Amino acid sequence: MEQQLLIYNTLSRQKELFRPITEGRVGMYVCGPTVYGDGHLGHARPAITFDVVFRYLSHLGYKVRYVRNITDVGHLEHDADEGEDKIAKKARLEQLEPMEVAQYYTNRYHAAMDRLNVLPPSIEPHASGHIMEQIALVQQILDAGYAYVSNGSVYFDVRKYQEDTHKYGQLSGRVIDEMLATTRELDGQEEKRFSGDFALWKKAAPEHIMRWPSPWSDGFPGWHAECTAMGAKYLGSPFDIHGGGMDLVFPHHESEIAQCVASTGHAPCRYWMHNNMITINGQKMGKSLNNFITLPQFFSGDHPALEQAYTAMTIRFFILQAHYRSTVDFSNDALKASEKGLERLLDGYRALDALETKKGGTIKKDYVDDLQKKCYEAMNDDLNTPIVISNLFDACRVINLIQDKKESITADALEALKTVFSTFAFDILGLKASSGENNPAREEAFGKVVDMLLEQRAKAKANKDWATSDLIRDNLAQLGFVVKDTKDGVTWKLNK
Ligand code: ZN
Repeated sequence: MEQQLLIYNTLSRQKELFRPITEGRVGMYVCGPTVYGDGHLGHARPAITFDVVFRYLSHLGYKVRYVRNITDVGHLEHDADEGEDKIAKKARLEQLEPMEVAQYYTNRYHAAMDRLNVLPPSIEPHASGHIMEQIALVQQILDAGYAYVSNGSVYFDVRKYQEDTHKYGQLSGRVIDEMLATTRELDGQEEKRFSGDFALWKKAAPEHIMRWPSPWSDGFPGWHAECTAMGAKYLGSPFDIHGGGMDLVFPHHESEIAQCVASTGHAPCRYWMHNNMITINGQKMGKSLNNFITLPQFFSGDHPALEQAYTAMTIRFFILQAHYRSTVDFSNDALKASEKGLERLLDGYRALDALETKKGGTIKKDYVDDLQKKCYEAMNDDLNTPIVISNLFDACRVINLIQDKKESITADALEALKTVFSTFAFDILGLKASSGENNPAREEAFGKVVDMLLEQRAKAKANKDWATSDLIRDNLAQLGFVVKDTKDGVTWKLNK
């Protein structure tokens, strides 16, 4: 099926027809986390958004190489060129080796992504593992005349770049004069010729632990260098899609474009995609604002702002119920509504298996063809996941009517409906049918049901009804339960 996928390009500020540079292949780079703390909803959103992009492009038959980096060096406090490295600071506070901090939070990030059913990227490069590539990039920019060395550090010459290319600000819409007016004066600013210049390489202070030799000083790369260097290394230059959160448009992505244009003469990619932010009571959610709830806290419910625990699938569904370019405001009510909505959707899917078919039924294959068409149209219109979900809800309504015998379905329509439902809900939106994960109320109820069965078995035994007693034990064993009779009573555990 020929698909006409439109995606919104932040650079042109309009939806554009997606055409990959190499037919049949897509290269996509997405800025990953800075691993100095647990991920929060603001990390879940880009990961889930671009997971759906990855899944959908793959579904359309493209061979996708998806690169999502790990920032483990060079990202300084307040996203500025001054201040302490975020990871080094955490390491100092916790008396750990910086790479211990990075590894610990990388592992926890992966675990959270796994629960959110976010597929691993094709390549996950670390900034600290690509220092040579970043030094080469800085040298290229210096050779081209768009950077200068100052006291062992290297800065990008924004004004010169702007004079020659008129491109600085093209992504973010910022104007250099405005930047001059808004840039805060910071310590060490005198190293720069212009306050809008950004660091390509920073000379390390004597106490700075993460440092590498370079032609200019023992130091570390600027935050923006890694993505330019690693994107080009693994995807070529230019590549197709560069993604990330909207908060990265300036200065990070604007500077990435400048670094690439200055070193190669062309832009790094064709399409810039940005997901909008998640707010909490209308405010940006972020580590620096101290109003964030981490993903492990959502999963456990262990945070004063949370009225209960939420499964990872509820969070995924909550995020996909909004279009990725809209803001989403977090509240317990909104998450609870998503929990119910997801349950309704999964109930609809589970009911499909038990539906009876009827020759000449009122729901025919053309209903399903139309449903499928609407779902594709929604995905092709800049990945409109809320419309896909509302179409699946419509299918649930029809499934309920069939259950209630108010409608009937033909055999071929039922088979097609199962395929369309699972393709969009599971393969493309990445939802999972298994529920009950880490839901304490559900687990308690589930445990009580097992206890009830074991009580029935005890009664059967007391009545010397061995057949029933053995049947219960064997059935439980088949489901993976290990039942043990001890002198203090019966114990059980689920061996799965
Ligand atoms: Zn980046």
